[in-house]
Amino acid sequence: MERREILIAGGGAAGIIAALAASENGADVLIIEKMGQLGKKILATGNGRCNYTNYYQSEECYRGEEPLFAWNALQKFGMQQTVELFKSYGILPYDRDGYVYPLSGQASCIRDILHMQLKSTGTVIHTDEKIVDAQLYLNKKTGKQCGFTVLTDKHKYFTKKLVIATGGKASPIHGSDGSGYKIAMGLGHSLVTPIPALSSCMLDEKYTKDWAGARTNGSVMAYSEEGCLMCEDSGELQFVAHGISGIPVFQVSRYISKELSKGKRPYLIMDIMPFYSEKEIVCELLNRKKKYSIYSTGDIFKGLLNNRLVAALIKKCGLSLKKPAKELPEASIKKLAAVMKNWRMDVIDTGGFDKAQVTCGGINTSEINFDTMESKICNGLYFAGEILDIDGICGGYNLQWAWTSGYIAGIAAGKIA
Ligand SMILES: Cc1cc2nc3c(=O)[nH]c(=O)nc-3n(C[C@H](O)[C@H](O)[C@H](O)COP(=O)(O)OP(=O)(O)OC[C@H]3O[C@@H](n4cnc5c(N)ncnc54)[C@H](O)[C@@H]3O)c2cc1C
Repeated sequence: MERREILIAGGGAAGIIAALAASENGADVLIIEKMGQLGKKILATGNGRCNYTNYYQSEECYRGEEPLFAWNALQKFGMQQTVELFKSYGILPYDRDGYVYPLSGQASCIRDILHMQLKSTGTVIHTDEKIVDAQLYLNKKTGKQCGFTVLTDKHKYFTKKLVIATGGKASPIHGSDGSGYKIAMGLGHSLVTPIPALSSCMLDEKYTKDWAGARTNGSVMAYSEEGCLMCEDSGELQFVAHGISGIPVFQVSRYISKELSKGKRPYLIMDIMPFYSEKEIVCELLNRKKKYSIYSTGDIFKGLLNNRLVAALIKKCGLSLKKPAKELPEASIKKLAAVMKNWRMDVIDTGGFDKAQVTCGGINTSEINFDTMESKICNGLYFAGEILDIDGICGGYNLQWAWTSGYIAGIAAGKIA
């Protein structure tokens, strides 16, 4: 049985930073990663550019059953410390409206530099090896717990400290398949049911094929089946063949996901003309009808809305795209304007874990000490990253959570080891 001071389960963002922090104090660290390479998910972040943090930070940017858990941890190691640490590694920040990217504009440079840092600290890295179980190791004489036995698909290890950083269930193609939950639960921890977050929403509407490919500035509000407003956001909406996507939809999707997981039927209300009132739109459409009376109903929207969105809007209102504008009754114009401002869409599903960027839910944070990320149930056991019941909003907050929790866990495990 191989013996280690600190074993880190999972070599994603949280596991890598935990290993770097732990080795700061000279601890002997082993990372075990099931994929063929470390940080595969980092490469996919920020559309390949890695939005690794955000200059704007507040407690509302982090969600979970105990939202203050993340905020308290961020006071110990937050955005400022992350940016400075990354600068010390050679990763210079590039600010796009508060969203922070590496100056090189490449996610691969973050993964590669972190990997180079790991090599320089002498961290041992095992890839293509999956952890299947972990158990308490008891001292035969005293009967006291003094470490863990970790079983992989290849070997058996003894470690004094164990950091579980295996991620959640989102985007399993990058390695996070939820297997860490079972390991943590085997050690006595409980789970807040994981559901997909930061995802598109699927709609059961005939018109979605018409709008596929369109984008527009707008806002979305997520409502529960009972009609309670759960969350709202605005920005660029993206229309796809099966439903609706874009950052505002991602931001509200966690609440939709929660409702769907309870068997409820949540819905979205969309405003595709956020800078105009309903009255102004009616007025504008009546003027256009008069000016372009010999043209079709679809034609009077030119310059106002994306053509594909117009086709979907007209279908939703039960009208015809080709019908001459002069035959369009005022009541229909009023209906079109009302839908443009309050477009209701019943959501049947999200993109699921395959399409989600992050997991909402995870290991219960009430069982973890935010000062050290150590388990309150089991000595020498630490957690970091998305495996915990914390999900950030879109904009660099999920990676920030991985850096924050990973760094704190690594320092604490390294000190004690
Ligand atoms: C497409 C996409 C884009 C994103 N863009 C951004 C962005 O721009 N900004 C942002 O802040 N967030 C972004 N996120 C979210 C962010 O990437 C994650 O929240 C973050 O990477 C989580 O880090 P982690 O280390 O906790 O988990 P992960 O990155 O999932 O790493 C966990 C690691 O553990 C390994 N593992 C799992 N189980 C085992 C096991 N049993 N044994 C051994 N190894 C195991 C996995 O292979 C994986 O490498 C994005 C996510 C996706 C999918």
